[in-house]
Amino acid sequence: MTTPITIRMHARDNVAIVANAGGLAAGTLLPDGLTLTTQVPQGHKVALVDLPAQAAVIRYGIPIGYALKDIPAGSWVNERMLQMPDARELDNLPIATIQPDPLPPLEGYTFEGYRNADGSVGTRNILAITTTVQCVSGVVEFAVQRIKAELLHKYPNVDDVVGIEHTYGCGVAIDADGAEIPIRTLRNISLNPNFGGEVMVVSLGCEKLQPERLMPPGAIPINDQRGEALDVVCLQDDAHVGFMSMIDDIMQTAKRHLERLNMRRRETVPASELVVGVQCGGSDAFSGVTANPAVGFCTDLLVRAGASVMFSETTEVRDGIDQLTARATTPEVAEAMIREMAWYDAYLARGRVDRSANTTPGNKKGGLSNIVEKAMGSIVKSGSAPISGVLSPGNKLTQKGLIYAATPASDFICGTLQLAAGMNMHVFTTGRGTPYGLAEVPVIKVATRTDLARRWHDLMDINAGTIADGEKTIEDVGMELFQLMLDVASGRKKTWAEHWKLHNALVLFNPAPVT
Ligand code: CA
Repeated sequence: MTTPITIRMHARDNVAIVANAGGLAAGTLLPDGLTLTTQVPQGHKVALVDLPAQAAVIRYGIPIGYALKDIPAGSWVNERMLQMPDARELDNLPIATIQPDPLPPLEGYTFEGYRNADGSVGTRNILAITTTVQCVSGVVEFAVQRIKAELLHKYPNVDDVVGIEHTYGCGVAIDADGAEIPIRTLRNISLNPNFGGEVMVVSLGCEKLQPERLMPPGAIPINDQRGEALDVVCLQDDAHVGFMSMIDDIMQTAKRHLERLNMRRRETVPASELVVGVQCGGSDAFSGVTANPAVGFCTDLLVRAGASVMFSETTEVRDGIDQLTARATTPEVAEAMIREMAWYDAYLARGRVDRSANTTPGNKKGGLSNIVEKAMGSIVKSGSAPISGVLSPGNKLTQKGLIYAATPASDFICGTLQLAAGMNMHVFTTGRGTPYGLAEVPVIKVATRTDLARRWHDLMDINAGTIADGEKTIEDVGMELFQLMLDVASGRKKTWAEHWKLHNALVLFNPAPVT
């Protein structure tokens, strides 16, 4: 018979979660002497004391809800038994109140990366073909297949060719409030360090998002250095007679950029050149117990090494806003965070929803009762370092340290915005399981549970479930992740998503109307 394992996160908690695969049956005697009065599924909460109606149910040291009826000690506490707390208001927050001693620097760690003319460092060497509008996607896809089949082998130092396809560009209110977000996102994705500054654009010709609006003069530093204009293939040009002339034009243009990309070489660079985006998806109650704390430990290591780390997912940190503003290095950083949260509150209110629209049926099945509980588990990805900056959606990151990059929690939109920020390494934790991947940047996936890591052994790169199993510590798995990042960044190792070429579509965040 297996030993019953329950996990409590904070000394104040009056619930714990059941760690055992398959859950625990009614009548199970827990090590602390409590007997389960009901069956409790894996990842779900058990009441450690009698919880009278209205009592606060405490996890991570904060109320995640209020009991709707009496819940006896030893029984399953699920989402139907809890009233969710209201969102924390955005005034009277603690502002930069936590000023910890600086973390000791972590020196001597390096990786092999591609140094770019603008000083940034790529972890892959990829030709990106930017598109101004969805209309050209089929043509670009056709050209990409031809380039892969006929050209790529002639450029052995180039890893891949990727069409930057999206649904924006026409049929949109391009001057509306918020329209600058998808446009700058697309611009900054084209400038991601993994693409070496080699920008080429395929345009239809009649679209709202004209190439000069997407890439205004001065947007591409390397072009200015070389005195070159933006490289555009326009499908509606009179010169194109027949489909094949469009494809030939794209392939000829691609050749020029492939030749230059092929001259790139990896060189040893300090770990401070990593720009890491962390996010979670398909979360369960273990996310905040195993994988996210391990990522948080790794986040601290990265900050100590002088790297940039972004955490995001506004609806998943909204309920911890007081923790975040307290950790801001300056009042300005805290104010910027509050501004982003307020903007998002208003954005959700326009659709007459709030942050509680976030949790999924899978989250609940995995033991997460509501967004408050999910947020407390999500926020730990940010570790304990001070928060030194805030980035608005679609903007490019220009500073080191721990940054709050404001993005929706949607996996694809968050990843797309972190890509625009200049991410060269992506870390993704999952409990329910998702085969998520991006064509543009390596994605390291961390499983929260051993059962998922076992079943998805060729999709998950790291098993943080070993923490719940008592085999490894949070620090062990955090260090393992840090080492794997350096190996993957150097091209010495591939992630499973890269191995199988699993790529999700880019999804631009467009809060503006379409026409
Ligand atoms: Ca997410």
